[in-house]
Amino acid sequence: MARTFHLLTVAALLAWLAGPGRAAEMLAASVSSVTAADAARHVEALADDAFEGREGGTRGGRAAAAYIVEQIEPLGFKPAGDDGSWYQAFGAGLRNVLALLPGRDPGLAGELVVVGAHYDHVGYGTERNSFGPFGFVHNGADDNASGVAGLIEVMEALQRLPEPPRRSILIAFWDGEEKGLLGSNHFVRERPALLVEHRPVFSINLDMIGRLRNERLVVYGARTAEGLRRRLVAANNDPRAAAGLELAFDWDILEDSDHYPFIAGRVPTLMFHTGLHDQYHRPSDDVELVNFDGIPPVARLTLAMATEIAETPQRPLFRAAAQAESNATRRRLEERRPPGGPSRGRWGIVTRADPGEPGTPIVIAVTSGSPARRAGLQPGDRLLAVADRSPASQAEMVEQLRLAGDECRVTVERRGRTREITMRVVEQTSESSSEDKEADEAAHHDD
Ligand SMILES: [Zn+2]
Repeated sequence: MARTFHLLTVAALLAWLAGPGRAAEMLAASVSSVTAADAARHVEALADDAFEGREGGTRGGRAAAAYIVEQIEPLGFKPAGDDGSWYQAFGAGLRNVLALLPGRDPGLAGELVVVGAHYDHVGYGTERNSFGPFGFVHNGADDNASGVAGLIEVMEALQRLPEPPRRSILIAFWDGEEKGLLGSNHFVRERPALLVEHRPVFSINLDMIGRLRNERLVVYGARTAEGLRRRLVAANNDPRAAAGLELAFDWDILEDSDHYPFIAGRVPTLMFHTGLHDQYHRPSDDVELVNFDGIPPVARLTLAMATEIAETPQRPLFRAAAQAESNATRRRLEERRPPGGPSRGRWGIVTRADPGEPGTPIVIAVTSGSPARRAGLQPGDRLLAVADRSPASQAEMVEQLRLAGDECRVTVERRGRTREITMRVVEQTSESSSEDKEADEAAHHDD
């Protein structure tokens, strides 16, 4: 794979410290601590009726926070709440649970990668927060015991890294999400003394990751920084993380979960979500419907991505334009080119530049019978690399394609998964050779 190098940076460093071979083993060991059985144990505990639906500020909510603290206390993180405690208290008896893994690079440890999940839910449900029936315990197994379980698994894996990444990683269990994103909003405005000098530079929000179907994970926020999609795809395809999910990139940015206060605060942020369902905000969102096997791959992707961002000196830079984009923007950009356009070059590909991801042009047309079509390229694919070289722009990629010989290997992303595709010019018809000179000029910009 062309772009699976970021974790390799960590691996290279570890290899230097620990001797060859050992590093990959150690990272693999950290990933292997993420298990469906552990995730199931946490979901079952948090979705127990004893917690009465974990409403923020109630005794059930407080008991759920205590359960989380009991689970994370042995993991070697630093309590990052008020006065050396795990809790950041706010509002009417609400509490975030905060745990810090201090970064090892003194120059970057002040920058925070925040990985969060809300642990509260709607208690017994009212007409304001439930689709009913009201008055019964809403266990919120998917919403969001699943995210909490995944996050505890991420912590356990982080603890097993032979040393922490350069930047600090803050694990946050938010309270009061269901009351209006209260916990994450509070944190963005006001941080406990330990974190006052720290600055969030990236965040991941896990909300409802318990219903993975057909390995399809919905990803919000990938356009909040240039290169974020490419980095996430690399993490998803890293063999050590073994996530291998199908990523559905959703371009809408809604004020509906804890990613929003971060994005509003100009912090590049991703949210992972396995989709809505008929039990959403009803008492029937319970453990028997959770796909426990689906939580580990999402946790491993979270781990790989958080670690990569925390380790790589170049941090993602916030891209404000993302807030003005939506799925309508996506549809316009990915729209197939109507047939009968100008030359498509000898490979038979038309691409379109994406202003949000300049290095990964979108394939919008593939000529029938062309080398690209024969090799299996499809409209909607993203071109990540030509012969293992990642271009900085669409123009650079068009040039790389033009300069290639009669055989050209491209790295392509299709719904979050990468594949290597080798295109071959089998025979030159008189028509196609006449097109050679203007090969791939058909690739055009669209903005
Ligand atoms: Zn909810």
